[in-house]
Amino acid sequence: MSIARERIDRLQTLAASAAADGDDDLAREYVSLARRIAERNRLRFPREFERSTCDRCDRYHRPGRNARVRLRDGHVVVTCDCGTQHRYPYD
Ligand SMILES: [Zn+2]
Repeated sequence: MSIARERIDRLQTLAASAAADGDDDLAREYVSLARRIAERNRLRFPREFERSTCDRCDRYHRPGRNARVRLRDGHVVVTCDCGTQHRYPYD
């Protein structure tokens, strides 16, 4: 596993932990940093991380707090507080 990948995984853990603690600003900083590392190294976020974050504003989504989640046509539709919608297949 590459160092960049390890750092992204570590930042995912930190972001999830910060979000669980209610520190959304800190979570966002971790997501933002992870995204810069991913872009620099041409890596994608792990799927769970990708689906927990907004690729426009870097929020770490916490449904009911900074994102709304709906099921529609076999998809999960997540609407971020910034207005961006993300659609994922339901599985
Ligand atoms: Zn957003």
